[in-house]
Amino acid sequence: MGRYTAAVCRLCRRSGEKLMLKGSRCLTPKCAMDRRSKPPGPQLRRPRRLSDRGLQLREKQKPRYAYGILERQFRRVFAQAEKQSGITGENLLVLLERRLDNVVYRLGFADSRPQARQLVRHGHIMLNGRKTDIPSCLVKEGDTISWKEASTKSEYYKQLVQSIESKSILSWLSLDKENLVGQVVSLPTPDDVGAKFEGKSIVEYYSR
Ligand code: SF4
Repeated sequence: MGRYTAAVCRLCRRSGEKLMLKGSRCLTPKCAMDRRSKPPGPQLRRPRRLSDRGLQLREKQKPRYAYGILERQFRRVFAQAEKQSGITGENLLVLLERRLDNVVYRLGFADSRPQARQLVRHGHIMLNGRKTDIPSCLVKEGDTISWKEASTKSEYYKQLVQSIESKSILSWLSLDKENLVGQVVSLPTPDDVGAKFEGKSIVEYYSR
């Protein structure tokens, strides 16, 4: 599966929102949104006003950028959300939140979703005791997320054990901070996504 490889801060500037794609750097004054929040590209004297369609597109792109998904895959997740009962926009956000790379990020194993994706891709993460290197894999209630035995010897892991104590975990997850084993206590709700993504606008965008 392909992925976006250009400068990610442009995506925040394009969305007009901090998408936290660079880990700890996002919390420092070096964040591009703090230094230069205008959209990338030539600066117009009078900022262009977005049409309704443009606003919907921007809302649709935000979670796509934040979760690091290309359009084709995002559409597939949207189609899956549509088939489920309930509100499509909310289903979509929950499906995105259940991705394995996102759970690795939410457990504090990585500073950002791109870094979490790399940990999964490189085979450091086990899902229910089995090596799983597919970032888009969806977790279920009761699933456990742990580290591959060989990876626990790495310098990264040793530093993580020391730094994880200060990290807080969302209520739908639990974490054994000594052994770095996480568990999905319950499925996330749209409130757990805790983000500024507007599911309604995304549905409107795809309904045309
Ligand atoms: Fe976005 Fe982080 Fe870059 Fe700031 S530092 S613009 S939040 S990716």
